[in-house]
Amino acid sequence: MAITEIVDSYNKYVKKIMDFNEAIALAEWDMRTGAPIKGIKQRSEVVGTLSDEVFKRSTSDEMKGYIDALTDPAVHDQLDLVTRRMVEESQKTYERFINIPSEENKAYVILQSEAQSVWKEAKKNSDFEMLQPYLEKMVAFKRKFIEYWGVKTNKYDALLDLYEPGLTVETIDHVFGKLRKGLIPLVEAVTASKDQPQNAFLTASFPVEKQKALCLHLLKEIGYDFDAGRLDETEHPFEITLNPGDVRVTTNYQENDFISTVLGTIHEGGHALYEQHISRELVGTPLCEGTSMGIHESQSLFFENFIGRSKAFWSCHYEELKKYANGQFDDVSLDDFYRAINVSRPSFIRTLADELTYPLHIMVRYDIEKGLFNGDLSVKDLPSVWNEKMNEYLGITPTNDREGVLQDIHWPGGDFGYFPSYALGYVYAAQFKNTMIKDVPDFDARVSSGNLEVVTEWLSKHIHQFGRLKKPLEILNDTTGEGPNPDYLLNELSKKYSDIYRL
Ligand code: ZN
Repeated sequence: MAITEIVDSYNKYVKKIMDFNEAIALAEWDMRTGAPIKGIKQRSEVVGTLSDEVFKRSTSDEMKGYIDALTDPAVHDQLDLVTRRMVEESQKTYERFINIPSEENKAYVILQSEAQSVWKEAKKNSDFEMLQPYLEKMVAFKRKFIEYWGVKTNKYDALLDLYEPGLTVETIDHVFGKLRKGLIPLVEAVTASKDQPQNAFLTASFPVEKQKALCLHLLKEIGYDFDAGRLDETEHPFEITLNPGDVRVTTNYQENDFISTVLGTIHEGGHALYEQHISRELVGTPLCEGTSMGIHESQSLFFENFIGRSKAFWSCHYEELKKYANGQFDDVSLDDFYRAINVSRPSFIRTLADELTYPLHIMVRYDIEKGLFNGDLSVKDLPSVWNEKMNEYLGITPTNDREGVLQDIHWPGGDFGYFPSYALGYVYAAQFKNTMIKDVPDFDARVSSGNLEVVTEWLSKHIHQFGRLKKPLEILNDTTGEGPNPDYLLNELSKKYSDIYRL
């Protein structure tokens, strides 16, 4: 067969897998946004059947045939960039799955769902011992998988690679170490400041219907395309992509905490902008999605923190906000509002943490994961190590495991290696902003005038359009000229919080 014929046939084969994935995403969106409860069991089976089909096709002999043919050096050099990157992704998926015996994979999937439901109970009762045996099995599975993948040294790197390809413990140790050294004294100074902002007016009643209208308005303002998406309501906000022409977001309305709703919606909107701007040429390939968890988070955090928590943004939208609200801001100046939405204080729960203390929550988890896979930390010691680290980094100690080690679903779900991408994303976001303002020197003035087009165009040109065509470190290096560097985030935060807390 001629090369073009093989490529053609490979493209068709892959397109079918992607079509299955889109159907799975649609079924999942439906289950999470309001499918009737009596249909859930059967629907889960449909998702299971479709996922199994994706697994089989991704690890089939036919797939192996394509990979072998297209990675042959004589052929590989003649392929265009998109095809080469596609084959690389197909190969990675193939190798990740093919070496794990299917019986073990099945047992792992069952454990995942068991551990997650036990976690809910354990969290409710603040009872770590209840979850401990499940977590031990989970860690044992992961260790075995790493062995199957042939990784001998630095096992945690293999887990990081699942979420943030190319990032290693060596790099993250350096980035987090530097970031922590700058953050801890800043958090201490903010906590000790005599000039604490007032924020009680933020929890006054804000009718849910008005919040909905406000969220729709603000999503449009940041450039979210409602002809390529929609906004629904769920307990936990999320973004889900069917294809770049159908990128959906959800939010959670809370009558007495509208600012969490607004910032959460802008956050998911940032994820969605990334996916809506991926080049249409990549549709039907495994490259048609955000390139990594960290780069994805850089886009959501860029909009949540550098736009949604900025004075420039609210100088444009504060008068509008007052029209949607219940009168609680009529006597509050823009300056006081801005300070209120940026109140920072060490707290126990990661998902409720402010932007300044958030990265420290991630470092607690990173140290523990590293200890579990590269060191000799055992599961039974997690609660005490957790509490020690919280005290060391944030100066507070949880009084029970519900507000400590049991708070996140990631570990019972088997997602070890995921957490670092949240803080890395924030580091990247500040690097992108620093580079962007060289091209767009009037950044603040543009944001104040409500014109974000130039901002989204810049992000689209340097990041969004590529999807997975470029790897995370390639995007970062090509755009900013360097690898992960926490200095820009530290600068940004120390400037901002010195002003807010009048340090
Ligand atoms: Zn996010």
